[in-house]
Amino acid sequence: DAATAPAPVAAVSQYACQRRTTTENNNKIFTDAFEVLAEFYEFNEVEGPCLAFRRAASVLKSLAWSVRRLGATEGLPCLGERSKSVMEEILQSGRSFEVEKILSDERYQTLKLFTSVFGVGPKTAEKWYRRGLRSFSDILAEPSIHLNRMQQSGFRHYGDISRAVSRAEARALGNIIDEAVRAITADGAAALTGGFRRGKEFGHDVDFIVTTPEVGREDRLLTDIIESLKQQGILLYCDYQASTFDQSKLPSHKFEAMDHFAKCFLILRLDCSRVDGGLNSVEGDSRGWRAVRVDLVSPPVDRYAFTLLGWTGSRQFERDLRRFARSERRMLLDNHALYDKTKKEFLAATTEEDIFAHLGLEYIEPWQRNA
Ligand code: ATP
Ligand code: MN
Ligand code: MN
Repeated sequence: DAATAPAPVAAVSQYACQRRTTTENNNKIFTDAFEVLAEFYEFNEVEGPCLAFRRAASVLKSLAWSVRRLGATEGLPCLGERSKSVMEEILQSGRSFEVEKILSDERYQTLKLFTSVFGVGPKTAEKWYRRGLRSFSDILAEPSIHLNRMQQSGFRHYGDISRAVSRAEARALGNIIDEAVRAITADGAAALTGGFRRGKEFGHDVDFIVTTPEVGREDRLLTDIIESLKQQGILLYCDYQASTFDQSKLPSHKFEAMDHFAKCFLILRLDCSRVDGGLNSVEGDSRGWRAVRVDLVSPPVDRYAFTLLGWTGSRQFERDLRRFARSERRMLLDNHALYDKTKKEFLAATTEEDIFAHLGLEYIEPWQRNA
């Protein structure tokens, strides 16, 4: 019917970096289902269908309208037979049998639970599952299991860090990081990135890029910030990784590889008094504080734009930016640099707009990158 599908559907690109995707998702019933399927394949290390369902979800997220009948999806990219049959089922009965089967599967449930702990990836979760462990108490009661420092903190602060971080809390943390930077150097700066920069109301952590205009001083800036947080008594956990950045290297082919800049993965203590309207946690409010995950990255200032683009996400947007660069432009893009394979040269950028322009892409605002 005419009311559910727009008149002439403008061609939708197969690349997320050529679509504008806000936080408003008009097709959540389908994308939630696809996310479960993608995760199921991820747990089983089957990459093809995992990526296919993620791409399908991403296309549906970009639509300004809700799919009400399958015919309306004609001409949309990345929707294969399997995605369409899942959608058909949901349209007809409101649910997908396949998704419900996964959700009730013991292995899926257990891996989902274990990977929800900070420091526990699919590999570790799988190992624990194969040893017959099914709950947190199973893990904590198993004497032969050695938890690393990150996992120990993950369990210790599980209640707090599995609870969403609000925008007000992100702002409060921004002030804390900002003050720390300014106390170290007057010309330093901290910028909010990640999901909150994309306009999300809630996040699983808060991401910042910290910089100093003096190239070569960025590693020191980060260690000084960490020291300041420690002095303030709010550093609950810190995994610091010094820079291994080599500017002569070509951008990486592998998306999942982390960048090489100095960075740290933190758990901070956020006091209620610092947050307008209080903490996003019932228990935390009575205690007067909560634990929050915070990521900081500190690139040399001439790589700032690449880092900002890379850390703003979403992951699907980043994946497609790189795929677009490689497949459509013969260029290599990562968080450090952009390299033109035809001209055999690096392309410099001081802003994100510069990078989109080098790639011959229309600029997409951060709040339109929720692919
Ligand atoms: P959420 O609200 O759940 O935190 P998010 O989009 O902010 O969502 P993050 O996992 O915090 O998700 O990641 C933010 C961005 O930073 C993503 O684009 C991700 O690819 C990138 N990123 C995260 N960790 C690293 C890392 N170690 N090296 C390079 N990029 C990273
Ligand atoms: Mn984040
Ligand atoms: Mn993060």
